[in-house]
Amino acid sequence: MSDTIEKVKCLIIGSGPAGYTAAIYAARANMAPVLYQGTQPGGQLTTTNEVENFPGYPEGITGPEMMMELQKQAGRFGTDIRDGWVTRVDFSGDVHRVWVNDHKEIHCDSVIISTGASAKYLGLVSEQKYLKLGGGVSACAVCDGFFYRNQEVVIVGAGDSACEEAHYLSKLCSKVTMLVRRDVFRASKIMANRVKNTKNIEILFNTETEEVLGDGQVVTGVKVKDNVTGEVKTIPATGFFVAIGHKPNTDIFKEYLDLDKTGYIINKPGTSKTNVEGVFVSGDAADHVYRQAITAAGTGCMAALDAERYLAAKEAPVEA
Ligand code: NDP
Repeated sequence: MSDTIEKVKCLIIGSGPAGYTAAIYAARANMAPVLYQGTQPGGQLTTTNEVENFPGYPEGITGPEMMMELQKQAGRFGTDIRDGWVTRVDFSGDVHRVWVNDHKEIHCDSVIISTGASAKYLGLVSEQKYLKLGGGVSACAVCDGFFYRNQEVVIVGAGDSACEEAHYLSKLCSKVTMLVRRDVFRASKIMANRVKNTKNIEILFNTETEEVLGDGQVVTGVKVKDNVTGEVKTIPATGFFVAIGHKPNTDIFKEYLDLDKTGYIINKPGTSKTNVEGVFVSGDAADHVYRQAITAAGTGCMAALDAERYLAAKEAPVEA
């Protein structure tokens, strides 16, 4: 069932740094953007404590505060920022159709996808508790590693990301304990070897997390179990990093857009263009490599510029 159909020149889906940056550029280019925030307004950064690596904030800023600032900036130029979750799209025709909360239908001249990716977590109650408290659980070593300088941390995972992040942490932390659930790495040999050859990284194979321990405010250790011998022990740590993969939030687009084997949207190299004309992508929905707020913001800018050029070409009078 559909309410009255609304027509929109530029629809932006998602409210992380990519979406808001696209909105700032699109609004300033008179594209009257409408932005739907999704279920987690502000995106992944709202689960980050302190952001110290986004240029322009010399003293750092909390993730939620930064997203409020970006939202304000997008609103200042007239972006129509709305609550709502895009549940379905149809990109098969000239006009791109989008449904919000299953019933509201929007016809869009251009669409910018900034739906991001979600870090996977183990799902333990104790892990989620300290994640929500901002007390020492993180899924991003580059974002949060700095807060654990000269401290002992634990990281879970055995893929390329986990190896890269463990190695990154080893340069900051006094000790990194890596928990690998099987007796082998999934990561490429070169990445696994780098970890194996780093002095202050201890690798525990066949080891799973039982519980993240803490004092009610911050993490103090991790209870782990050897899944072969059954031995349970506690590893002292102030940080618990989870690097077991990300899931791009792209399910609703898979019928129409080219995705890679893990679900990331494939953009045309050096642009934000997808395989569908008038549909652009920015941020982590197309990026499994960099995944930073600043790179997401950069590609948000690209998407707005690409959309503006696309609309301008479409609206230009045809020469006789
Ligand atoms: P992957 O899916 O490759 O690896 C996930 C890892 O997490 C696996 O080792 C898996 O274990 C482990 N894992 C999953 N669930 C659990 C759990 N519940 N408990 C414990 N461990 C768990 O994800 P990545 O993010 O590492 O990589 C994604 C893609 O990006 C890959 O293609 C990778 O090659 C690429 N990448 C490339 C980089 C580079 O080239 N520089 C850097 C980073 C990523 P198991 O092995 O037992 O399944």
